[in-house]
Amino acid sequence: MRKKIVAGNWKMNKTQEDAKNLVEAVLSSCKDEAAVTKIFFPPMPFLGMVSSLVQGTSSFSAGAQNCHYAESGAFTGETSAAAIASCGASYVLVGHSERRQYFLENDEQLKQKIDRALGHSLSPIYCVGEQLAERNNHHYFTVIKNQLQNSLFHLSESAVLRTVIAYEPVWAIGTGLTATPDQAQEMHAFIRLALTEKYGIAVAQKISVLYGGSCNAKNAKELFACPDVDGGLIGGASLIAEDFVKIAHSF
Ligand code: PEP
Repeated sequence: MRKKIVAGNWKMNKTQEDAKNLVEAVLSSCKDEAAVTKIFFPPMPFLGMVSSLVQGTSSFSAGAQNCHYAESGAFTGETSAAAIASCGASYVLVGHSERRQYFLENDEQLKQKIDRALGHSLSPIYCVGEQLAERNNHHYFTVIKNQLQNSLFHLSESAVLRTVIAYEPVWAIGTGLTATPDQAQEMHAFIRLALTEKYGIAVAQKISVLYGGSCNAKNAKELFACPDVDGGLIGGASLIAEDFVKIAHSF
């Protein structure tokens, strides 16, 4: 059975005190059941604190929103996978569309980031997604296939099993324009098919594929009911404890 995951990407929001309050509020009202993994992705300065707060729970984890592709070195302002792992985090987001757009991260760098994360026992959540124009001109399957092939499909079977994929149509992120359940299921099934062609059905059936893009407490249930949607990567709605808890209880 695939892992069900609800992950909160806080982006560049919250202070240290807000971060502590948010995690504590979620921990006090969200079921700590292994059936659904809940992951917090706070800004980097709070990663150690958030990792400590979730330590000892059975279903909560912490992760970083990004890591550098190099092992270490003269990259002022950047954070290595080794540093992230040493904070007690278990996951790292790779290839979020905001990183691709504003920091010009390319598929080759993302491939190296995935390798670096795995090398430090972090599970990468690899984000893929098409732009609105690519959806409108029906190129979206090709775009997603290329993103998978260029940054993920070099992995061995055992390595790819340690990854998670997040399908995040760029036109749905932070816009209030959620993909319909039919649109989400169509793309998740396509991703599952691409995994099957590359790694075989047994592997493809074990990799969680999350939906992200204006997923909230109102629409999570119908999105998570889709057979190939294994949970969500949540931005805006993860900043409000009550909403994040509702989403985590939407399976
Ligand atoms: C995201 O940033 O990954 C995201 C899905 O954001 P939002 O939920 O706000 O659209």
